[in-house]
Amino acid sequence: MQGYDRREITLEQRVVGAYVGLAVGDALGATTEFLTPREIQRNYGTHRTICGGGWLHLQPGEVTDDTEMSLVLGASILRTPGVDAASVATAFSDWMRSKPVDIGNTVRRGIVHFRTTGEPLVPENEYDAGNGACMRSLPVAICYWNAAPEIRIAASRMQSHVTHNNRQADAGTEAVLQMLVSAFRGVPKSALQIIAQDLVEQYIGYRFDRRRVENPSGWIVETLQVVFQAFFSQQSFKDILVDVVNRGGDADTTGAIAGMLAGACYGVDAIPRQWRSALKAQVRHACEQQSTALLALAETGIDVARR
Ligand code: MG
Ligand code: MG
Repeated sequence: MQGYDRREITLEQRVVGAYVGLAVGDALGATTEFLTPREIQRNYGTHRTICGGGWLHLQPGEVTDDTEMSLVLGASILRTPGVDAASVATAFSDWMRSKPVDIGNTVRRGIVHFRTTGEPLVPENEYDAGNGACMRSLPVAICYWNAAPEIRIAASRMQSHVTHNNRQADAGTEAVLQMLVSAFRGVPKSALQIIAQDLVEQYIGYRFDRRRVENPSGWIVETLQVVFQAFFSQQSFKDILVDVVNRGGDADTTGAIAGMLAGACYGVDAIPRQWRSALKAQVRHACEQQSTALLALAETGIDVARR
């Protein structure tokens, strides 16, 4: 395991670590998605190998919608450049047409709404507190990492509301973004915990210091409770990821979000080599290339999000 020496990890290593970490967490967790911890134990012992399978019958190293939607969003940001709601909705619609291996119900509904109305944003909905906008939000963190907070938040809501328009979900996504950006800047993990605690103060439902959450649903609150419990109690990329994916439930998504946070915190070299090389080469290269391109775009001082 790599030691956690913040001084030695560059911004680029953190950003690439976040993107490859997202894909690694997605690929690792896809195997145990929708299983209970007991079923995981029976079938795999402690699950710690990127071996594919799962309910989607993946090949080893294949990823799901979490990574794919991130790459689609990132490509749209690079093309526009910036977050433009109509461009993002069009990109998601094209992606859905490509018959992805998996797609969430709320995402599908948002895309159908765009196709039928031409309106790229869905109306506010108290039931849309799924984790689908959070899981794909890493490109926003990278290309707005040095932007003013209000610009980053506007960009986050713009991409989120293409499918998910819910205040509780927005708050969770924005906390994850702030944690990512802070980790890119090399602030210590204790400062990231304050961001999570601020979220709990805003929405008490996110409280994660009580019972251990297992078998999390796609509700962003349960997803982030699992991610925060593992992220703040484990001390390495590997231990954080093994912790979340063995809790089952929406394990590819807890894996993806924990993977981006841990990768940003510890850097790409802290991701176990066998996990990095187990990813499909095409996916790993896409994550690496987009990290670099989005960072370069950030340097140009990207402007406000557009509708
Ligand atoms: Mg998925
Ligand atoms: Mg999932």
